[in-house]
Amino acid sequence: QQHKKEEEEFIFKSSLPDIYIPNHLPLHSYIFQNLPEFATHPCLINAPTGQVFTYSDVELKARRVASGLHKHGIRQGDVIMILLPNCPQFVFSFLGASFRGAIATAANPFFTGAEIAKQAKASNARLLVTQSSYYEKVKDLHGQLILVFVDTPPEGHLHFSELEEAEEGDIPEVKISPEDVVALPYSSGTTGLPKGVMLSHRGLVTSVGQQVDGENPNLYYHSEDVIMCVLPMFHIYSLNSVLLCGLRAKAAIVLMPKFEITAFLALVQKHRVTICPVVPPIILAIAKCPDLHNYDLSSIRVLKSGGAPLAKDLEDTVRLKFPNAKLGQGYGMTEAGPVLTMCLTFAKEAIDGKPGACGTVVRNAELKIVDPETEKSLPRNQPGEICIRGHQIMKGYLNDPEATERTIDKDGWLHTGDIGYIDDDDELFIVDRLKELIKYKGFQVAPAELEALLLSHPKISDVAVVPMKDEAAGEVPVAFVVRANGHSDTTEDEIKQFVSKQVVFYKRINRVFFVDAIPKSPSGKILRKDLRARLALPLPN
Ligand code: AMP
Repeated sequence: QQHKKEEEEFIFKSSLPDIYIPNHLPLHSYIFQNLPEFATHPCLINAPTGQVFTYSDVELKARRVASGLHKHGIRQGDVIMILLPNCPQFVFSFLGASFRGAIATAANPFFTGAEIAKQAKASNARLLVTQSSYYEKVKDLHGQLILVFVDTPPEGHLHFSELEEAEEGDIPEVKISPEDVVALPYSSGTTGLPKGVMLSHRGLVTSVGQQVDGENPNLYYHSEDVIMCVLPMFHIYSLNSVLLCGLRAKAAIVLMPKFEITAFLALVQKHRVTICPVVPPIILAIAKCPDLHNYDLSSIRVLKSGGAPLAKDLEDTVRLKFPNAKLGQGYGMTEAGPVLTMCLTFAKEAIDGKPGACGTVVRNAELKIVDPETEKSLPRNQPGEICIRGHQIMKGYLNDPEATERTIDKDGWLHTGDIGYIDDDDELFIVDRLKELIKYKGFQVAPAELEALLLSHPKISDVAVVPMKDEAAGEVPVAFVVRANGHSDTTEDEIKQFVSKQVVFYKRINRVFFVDAIPKSPSGKILRKDLRARLALPLPN
């Protein structure tokens, strides 16, 4: 009896019943299941042009792109890379890769040439779909991969229409196993450099099903919904919880390539948008917008925040501005497929969300909170590391079994590196982050990547990069730097500029603090907590 008690695990499940999810299907078959029933329904609305694609248009385009990929040598299991802002060709390329049995890896189009090249090489991408304004950054990849442009291609490269115009019947039959990888987003996870996160057909189908499938008519998205897709689809939050969930629910999806508050509000009004999945900085922009009353935003029924913590007072402010909408949070992590928890308010009319809560665990999944020291699971109201188990989580990191083993334990639990607790009503509250990751407006900044870059500077002998709180961005990266011998004149500006030239804007170092030594554990690990604590003290000028 005693022994049994010791082994007792505290595992949390959704209060909604588990459901049947057809996760034996390839992702595209699942997304377009029952196509004839909604073939003429609007699917994608391209905001800059107003062009509308129906569900049958999108399915046909995707199948043709699959044939085009095949014609240009892309075989089952090959990787294609997408470097585009939100646009219809992004969707056709992603779904086309799925039809072809290939894998899509998407990167931030604002990446520098070096950052793009790194991901292209690490993922072994064979073809890149991009636009001509990025040509300077990608032209050196020519030879390593085929360059395809959605607008006028530079001399010697393909136009997207050459993929799209392939006959859809030109493709050999592909046998896809549910375990085959279909998406390869990059994430640094709990530690180290960005790694390829292998999401399988089964994983993504399960995750989408957990969010939008089932009998409950109020579950998150309906076919009458109009969903705003302003978050970049290269991030899994948007790819999964906006695009794929929207498609599965047969909703209409408004593709907005770049966030700008007045254009955003005008689009909500014009298209009578009902669902706005956003990140906290967009909630902040809405809260601060002086012209909010000039727009008819009464169509919004769900305002969903995720990707980074949402401050409670900000949540309260915005809730007052949208009395008829449900405002709540979802919590995701690329490796978790990505959604772990979702505000139950979106699914059940009668329930009101609690400010600060990240929702309850999704259906068909298990969540536990473990003591980071003892690894024992904890009961309600005790904070510990959040762990998740289910078919939706990643298969592992590409070519990195050690990092995979550090993240998914032998019992199949994925360790998030986030600290949180479950309250008496099954709601998850995130209180801290155990892992190194820095989140700038929801974008990932991996300290290890910046540290490696800074260490390549001849005047720096040691360095540690940690997050510093920032109102607009949530967090910004700052560096503690030990100058190399004989270089006591090295300046903050010199170091900042050295980094700025080589990275996308949100990885730029916000502040540099010169120190004599970086605090480390006896095994040489940077004591990041100590440095974060130093930032909580009054800062030196
Ligand atoms: P990513 O893999 O880029 O989606 O980043 C995942 C990380 O973002 C999580 O592990 C959390 O640290 C953070 N995160 C995501 N959603 C939330 C949320 N609603 N509240 C607090 N942190 C979040």
